[in-house]
Amino acid sequence: MKTILVTGGAGYIGSHTVHLLLENNYNVLIIDNFDNGVQKNIPENVKFYQIDLRNISDIRKVFSENQIDAVVHFSGYIEAGESMADPYKFYNNNTFAGLNLLKVMIEHNVKKIVFSSTAAVYGEPEENPITENSKKIPTNFYGSSKLMFENILDSFEVYGMKNICLRYFNACGAAFGLGEEHKPETHLIPLVLDVALGKREHIKIFGTDYQTLDGTCIRDYIHVLDLAKAHVLALKHLEEKNTSLKLNVGTGKGFSVKEIIDKCREVTGHPIPAIESSRRDGDPTTLVASAEKIKDIFNWESQEDLNSIISSAWEWHKKTF
Ligand code: UDP
Repeated sequence: MKTILVTGGAGYIGSHTVHLLLENNYNVLIIDNFDNGVQKNIPENVKFYQIDLRNISDIRKVFSENQIDAVVHFSGYIEAGESMADPYKFYNNNTFAGLNLLKVMIEHNVKKIVFSSTAAVYGEPEENPITENSKKIPTNFYGSSKLMFENILDSFEVYGMKNICLRYFNACGAAFGLGEEHKPETHLIPLVLDVALGKREHIKIFGTDYQTLDGTCIRDYIHVLDLAKAHVLALKHLEEKNTSLKLNVGTGKGFSVKEIIDKCREVTGHPIPAIESSRRDGDPTTLVASAEKIKDIFNWESQEDLNSIISSAWEWHKKTF
């Protein structure tokens, strides 16, 4: 049985992936500092270290106490808007702390890593769907911090380390009794569902003058369970082929903000008042993945549709209200 260290395993995508890894008979260890993760997401039988990757001596302790075969590295800050106000925070955690992790991996001869990257590495795309070779000019420091780490990972090939960088599009939905919970919440679907629960009065639509059919931004919404499956396949690829890859993880289909709100109205039966508001800084008009490469290499395709995304998120939101 292989042992996988999951950093950020108590967070949203991390915890879903932990559950799927356990189902696939991996032995799992979790590191989380609870900046974004929550204790209740950690399964009872899983060994857990509450440490911060910025402290290299703490990472060394984890690697000394365990025989680790590969790492799935989720931990990091994710809020693009916040990165524009506090870039140090993002580079320190997403880039520098990750470098600590890589150093200890090399010291312990652990040379396989799956990294949580993001569509934000592309910035405002010149083309949609976005392929892995599209230009990478991030429009926020969150995207830069992740792209920098991708570059660092490529440099670490010198030590024989292999990486698979999964560039997530818009993660959403719920599975395994877990769900999406950020503090503060800034993501569209949880905010819209909060309106349906009566926790907020309305949803603000950020910009209705984009060059799209209904004037609102288009994103590629990918179910967290599909994302989790991509991580399991990435680990298998590293075990069997041991080659590095950069892969988009998206559906290849885009939905506008208004379409998402309409689908939430349909699923919840709530009118969900919406207010047209000004654009949010740094929001590209359209971000849709080309999902061809991951399909070719992993034979992976998203299985869950928008209805399943919103319904699963809604079931979880109602339970946690
Ligand atoms: N959005 C919105 N109102 C909100 C939150 C988000 O109109 O209260 C829009 C946002 O401008 C973007 C889309 O919904 O076009 C998805 O935003 P989210 O923050 O969920 O993900 P992002 O694409 O920024 O990673």
